[in-house]
Amino acid sequence: MIQTQLNLVRAQIPEQVTLIAVSKTKPVSDLQAAYDAGQRHFGENKVQEMVEKAAQLPADIHWHLIGHLQTNKVKYMATFVHLIHGVDSLKLLQEIDKQAKKAGRTQDVLLQFYIAQEDTKFGLDLQEAQEILDSIEFQQLKRIQVCGVMGMASNTSDEKQVAREFAALKNIFGTLQNKYFQEKPAFKEISMGMSGDYQLAIQNGSTMVRVGSKIFGGR
Ligand SMILES: *Cc1c(COP(=O)(O)O)cnc(C)c1O
Repeated sequence: MIQTQLNLVRAQIPEQVTLIAVSKTKPVSDLQAAYDAGQRHFGENKVQEMVEKAAQLPADIHWHLIGHLQTNKVKYMATFVHLIHGVDSLKLLQEIDKQAKKAGRTQDVLLQFYIAQEDTKFGLDLQEAQEILDSIEFQQLKRIQVCGVMGMASNTSDEKQVAREFAALKNIFGTLQNKYFQEKPAFKEISMGMSGDYQLAIQNGSTMVRVGSKIFGGR
């Protein structure tokens, strides 16, 4: 079942787009099934749950923390998390930098942007991001590698609106790349698209899609 769904989704995704299997709330046996079908990128939205699952699964999994992150949770995953998608404050960046240093790593992160027409979603706007990137405090962080941007579109059946929101995130990515990351090839990811809208996201420039229920079933 999981393998069938996984292959179905894979068939719709170009090779250069990374598929993150979002396994939040699902048992380890489901993740193992996806792993056995060749899946290596998994996304979780709670640190505690990700840590527990990581301990029970093979070490070559790339773990993505995709949910909203509190500073006091960073330390629990600092030794192994592959990419932190939901970074939306300087304070969080400072804590990630501190914990990465302790762990002897450089931590890859994405800046989360607010693109939806809803007030329930977290994220920065372009100006806030520029304030962070321009700050001396940010420039002092040595253990952070900003790899791109992440966003969630509105939960609506209006495809035109969703496409506009994805296009807006792609635009933000381009603006930041030009202004801050021209010499940084690691800045290349646009994490957007979920079960309901990943094809639209890919059409609008997504490089990473986060697909949960379409692979693992409803939650
Ligand atoms: C849960 C979640 C997803 C996956 O959602 P599905 O609709 O199940 O594909 C993607 N991104 C984030 C940030 C999530 O929290």
